[in-house]
Amino acid sequence: MNMKNRTLVFKSGDEDFEAGLLKAADIIRTGGTVAFPTETVYGLGADALNADAVHKIFKAKGRPADNPLIVHIANIDQCSKLAEEIPADAIKLMETFWPGPLTLILKAKDVVPDVTTGGLNTVGLRMPDNPVALELIRRSDTPLAAPSANTSGSPSPTTAEHVIHDLDGKIDAILDGGPADIGLESTVVDMTDKVPTILRPGHVSAEDIRKCVGDVRIGYRDRTLEEGEVARSPGMKYTHYSPKTKVILIEGNIKDVHKAMTEIVSDCHREGGRVGLFVTEETAKVVNADEICSLGKRNIPSQAARSIFMGLRHLDDKEIDLIIVDGTLKKEGIGTAVFNRLRKAADRIINV
Ligand code: AMP
Ligand code: MG
Repeated sequence: MNMKNRTLVFKSGDEDFEAGLLKAADIIRTGGTVAFPTETVYGLGADALNADAVHKIFKAKGRPADNPLIVHIANIDQCSKLAEEIPADAIKLMETFWPGPLTLILKAKDVVPDVTTGGLNTVGLRMPDNPVALELIRRSDTPLAAPSANTSGSPSPTTAEHVIHDLDGKIDAILDGGPADIGLESTVVDMTDKVPTILRPGHVSAEDIRKCVGDVRIGYRDRTLEEGEVARSPGMKYTHYSPKTKVILIEGNIKDVHKAMTEIVSDCHREGGRVGLFVTEETAKVVNADEICSLGKRNIPSQAARSIFMGLRHLDDKEIDLIIVDGTLKKEGIGTAVFNRLRKAADRIINV
């Protein structure tokens, strides 16, 4: 193996973790790339103000150049260096939800290179709620541009193992802080209009935002945009979260979903295929197949949030021809964000 291409791994709790953090910050300051844990998913960080360093993120992920990166900061004061015209509502949201899973889109200052903003005149800012992430940003002494630390288009990484699976040898280091708490990416809110607009749903809900600033618009769709449709957030154009195995999502009332699921499993078996189910605990008692992975309890969508990417990756590693996902999960709270990701991951959505 070429030693130059090895990715260093430092594990939180290990004796050498303190030295690992110092090394990781040094890598960032000298223009390298470091994957780190956040409360949402693992991020792949580089110095947001160093265009060459940020290019390395796009190269490692195979990310389209017009898909901007979220810039991660460790204190609110850093915002005024990166963004101008910070509206009062944005400050309210920062004070209420930071550190936490909320990204705010603001007018960018010129110091933020084009490669970081995907050529837009805006920048997405967020303060992650994870001690390792915050420590890395502080010690690097610069904001970190960091998208999810996966191969572009594949399910997001919620453990250091997922990052190694996708990016080993392509990035300089990984800080392993254990599994991500939330498991889904941040809520993205555009603050450049009078009324805040949600561009991507996440753990911070529309209702949470409305309570804080009074009004909010929904600016996202749960499917990838067709050619010719205009994207307010470039990420909306691209296929996301998709395993290699074909994914079918079945939505509708519980009995009909179970019936449709059973039929599709039988059809696949008749043709000699093998099926993986990604289903709630309740559905797992009713429908069976060759592999099963749990979304948790139907009425507790935070469990599905924590397992969605892990489950899709797990099933994708099995010898199966099809993944069927259970759309009977509760669609409230973070359930809204879970369905957004599931619908984007699905090759086919069946409504019964
Ligand atoms: P990721 O970090 O991989 O979860 O992706 C970041 C998401 O935030 C993508 O969907 C981007 O399109 C979106 N995003 C980041 N910066 C901006 C921005 N300035 N304007 C609109 N969307 C943004
Ligand atoms: Mg991503």
